[in-house]
Amino acid sequence: EPISNRPGIQKIKSADKRKKVCEALESLRFTENDVKQMMKVFEEQIDYANSLNEEDRKKSDLFWECTYVSDLVKGNENGRYLGLDLGSTNFRVVLVDLKDGEAKTTTKYYNLTDDQLSGPAELVFDHIAASMEVFITEEKIQSQKPIGVGFTFSFPTVQKSLKKSILVTWTKRFKCTNGPGLDPCILLEEAIERKGGLSVPVNVMARISDTTGTLMAGSYYDKKCAIGLILGSGSNACYVEHLKNFKKLDPKEAKSDKILVNCEWGAFGDNGCLDFCRNEFEREVDQYSNFPGSYTFEKSFGGFYLGEMFRVVLVKLTKAGVLFDGKGSDELMTRWLWKSRQVTTVEKDNPGSSENTMSVLKQMKLDTIATEEDVLLVQEACYLMSQRAAYIVATALAVLLNHINEPEVSIGIDGSLYEHHPRFHHHMTTLLQKLVPSTKFRLFLVKDGSGQGAALVAAVESS
Ligand code: BGC
Ligand code: MG
Repeated sequence: EPISNRPGIQKIKSADKRKKVCEALESLRFTENDVKQMMKVFEEQIDYANSLNEEDRKKSDLFWECTYVSDLVKGNENGRYLGLDLGSTNFRVVLVDLKDGEAKTTTKYYNLTDDQLSGPAELVFDHIAASMEVFITEEKIQSQKPIGVGFTFSFPTVQKSLKKSILVTWTKRFKCTNGPGLDPCILLEEAIERKGGLSVPVNVMARISDTTGTLMAGSYYDKKCAIGLILGSGSNACYVEHLKNFKKLDPKEAKSDKILVNCEWGAFGDNGCLDFCRNEFEREVDQYSNFPGSYTFEKSFGGFYLGEMFRVVLVKLTKAGVLFDGKGSDELMTRWLWKSRQVTTVEKDNPGSSENTMSVLKQMKLDTIATEEDVLLVQEACYLMSQRAAYIVATALAVLLNHINEPEVSIGIDGSLYEHHPRFHHHMTTLLQKLVPSTKFRLFLVKDGSGQGAALVAAVESS
């Protein structure tokens, strides 16, 4: 749909200004052609990632890792298990107590400071060990025999076995001085040892990704769940693939004809295969991000980047002389000051209202210069940018749904972007209905699923 059709754009009085606005925002459209092309490129990259030939594998930035998790939740699991969830702003400890598959869950948050995220990795793991002890004490957990622990560690890793994995690089807000090349479960066990142990014995059993955790937790709530999706500061997915479509695993090692694949799709496009649809806003966000040139796909819609992208879009409109009197404010010009919260807040305004948008403009010292047309334009820019973001995710999901090839599939989703964005669900649904018309799909929130799922993996692997 052309940008000029948007109601807020049509309300702009001057035809000349309307034209300038449409030109400035044109690259926010994710066209039908972009969708088709992206699906095709994604399939090609999956094929390369799957290849047994190392040269071919290098042609893809998708990790496409076997998780070594043997099954989804069956419903007959018993016992108490701990889940640890490291990967976003809040570190979480989760206790899942299972009685014949019925789970009672307790989740606690232990925030990390910016200092911890940019110092030696050992500091982060010391924080994890210390938080585990606090949790054990507060929850009065007692046990003679080791409690099974699943560790959700949500960064790109090469997975060698259920427990063994090697960190490739930090992403999102994390920029510790070391870590790549190390095994997160060993770092955890070493930190527990440095502490002189915990007051109950633990057995670290598995390292998973938050996507795998979300899939596991999703399958606890809904048996048809076959995809776990994260839409938080970063993004990634895990899904149930037919073994025959996953070449990297020796079928003899497989426990069934299905396999849980961690796509690790954030770096999709780092080799240039998405250049055909990247826009100037995505390029600018990347250029000034922690790791320029990496995590191309994630940066085009991940929550850690969307606030900055919104700002960059508004700066463009301002510099084109069609917003904020061509001037703006220092807050508008400060890189990374805007977060995805500003995006989701603006999106919370219903058509015709502007209370939430005004609160954001006030924070950014733009409220006094904003005209009525400015407010509408800010809302439309946010709408279009968000819609593009949701369409990109839906396009990748459609490819996974084609692989799964079942008549009914549920998609469990965790992450603050999906949770708080009032229109993401709608945009994703709209495009998916077009792309996979014969699949009955359901997108649903699995709040804190990423951590719960870690405990569920420990449970499944123990029973
Ligand atoms: C990480 C993934 C993770 C995703 C969602 C990405 O930055 O590389 O491993 O699943 O964020 O948290
Ligand atoms: Mg998370």
